[in-house]
Formats: sequence, C-alpha cells, structure tokens
Amino acid sequence: MASIHVLGGMGFDSNIYLVEDEHPFVIDTGTRYHLRKNLADVADLLPLDSIERIFLTHRHYDHTGGAAGFAEACGAEVLVHADDANSVRIGDSVSTGARNFDDDQERVDVTTVEEGHEIATGQYRFIVIHTPGHTVGSVSLYDEENATLISGDTVFTNGGIGRWDLPTGDFDQLLESVQILSELEVGPLYPGHMSPVLSRGSEHIRMSLRNLTDFTQEDLLLSRLRPLLEQGEDIVELIRKGELNKVRKRGRKTEMSERFDIGE
Ligand SMILES: [Zn+2]
Repeated sequence: MASIHVLGGMGFDSNIYLVEDEHPFVIDTGTRYHLRKNLADVADLLPLDSIERIFLTHRHYDHTGGAAGFAEACGAEVLVHADDANSVRIGDSVSTGARNFDDDQERVDVTTVEEGHEIATGQYRFIVIHTPGHTVGSVSLYDEENATLISGDTVFTNGGIGRWDLPTGDFDQLLESVQILSELEVGPLYPGHMSPVLSRGSEHIRMSLRNLTDFTQEDLLLSRLRPLLEQGEDIVELIRKGELNKVRKRGRKTEMSERFDIGE
C-alpha cells in the first residue's frame, strides 16, 4: 500500500515528502541546516538507497539546499524543471535565495524535466505541470487517478499563495498557474510549506485563486509604492534612476506576501 509521508518543515525548511511505493521518491529537501535529521527521518521509513529520484518543485534554497546531500546519501537522480535547473546546477546563491539564509547554494547535478514528464511509482503516476509565477521553473505534480496534487510554493492550503516578488517571479504567470490548478479535481493537497490536507484540496485552491484575483493591478502597484513612501523615499527620483525595482527587491515583501506567505 503506497503512502505519502510528510517530513521536514523545521525552521525555514520546506516540507519534504516521501512517496513510499514500489519506486519510492522524495519531493524537496529543505535547507542544508537540518540535512542530517531529515535524512535520518527518511531512513527511519525506508533504506536511503531505495530512493530512486529526488524531485525539486523549484529552485529556492529552502527546498533545494539539502539536495546535494540527499542525492549523495541516496545515490538518487535529482529532477528539476528546465527553467530552474541552471541556478541549482551552477550553485547560484542569489536566485536560489541561499544568501537570504546565510548559506551558499551547493552545486547539484540535476536532470531537467518539462511539462508532461511522468513519474510512475507503482500506485501513483504523477505528471509534471509547469506552474511558473513563484519562480519561472516552478512545477506541480498531479496524479489524476488519486486526485493528488503536490503544489510546491504555487499554492498553500487555506488560500495561501506563493510570493511572486522574488527573482524570476511574476504575478500574471502566478495567476494563470493558479487558474490551471483550480480546474483540477484535487483531494489530497501537499504544499511546499504549511500542513497538507487529505481531502477537498480543490476548495483550498479556489480560495487561493479568489485571494489572487481580489488583488488588482492597482493594489499591486500601491503595495509596492506604499513602503517606499512611508520610508520617505523620493519615488519620482527612484523611477528616474530606474531603481524602483532594485529597492523593492531589497527584501521588502508585498502586502500580499505578508498576508499569505511563509518561506521562499
Ligand atoms: Zn519558494
């Protein structure tokens, strides 16, 4: 009997999922900080060398920081979408966000996947759905027969939404991706952070979609400008110097992010 175990999640770590089946695989690996404990938790359930694949939902360090250690300990292949692969492959500490966690991104030898790639484990047959917006190479894994969705940081339970204001993030792409997910029939929903739900996942995703569509372009612009105004920045001068984006990216979260997001 196949099952999905929920591990990880300590500190800033993403959730780590272990699909226990004929061909077991791991989804996301957390940061590097709790690598030893995370590996021990996996090893309590299955021999590490039985893990054939490690799937990364996107490039961010809180999901990929432990990937090199996991790959070595398990002797497993690491899969990531083509659009996020290079940053992990070369160990780009900026776009993976490793710097924000005071660590360097380790280089990971990855195999790229695209939309439609299939991961069959025995009872489960997950298909990769490209869901950019949180990062350009973010993906979700969907098993239609079991109505099971692993959503990475695209949507969380209870209407949560991933940040779009980090490098390669994009609001319009995120909106489109959440629309795609909202059309799936989802029971169990396993997000990259926060608790999964074992039923009625579709309702959670539709809540996320409502939260996103309520957030208009005007709100979006205001949420970017307000913190700058409050800090007495000269907006006109910043725009003239082309520095508005730079200032915003210095780590100020949008209002939406503060309301809904956890993790990178
Ligand atoms: Zn993320």
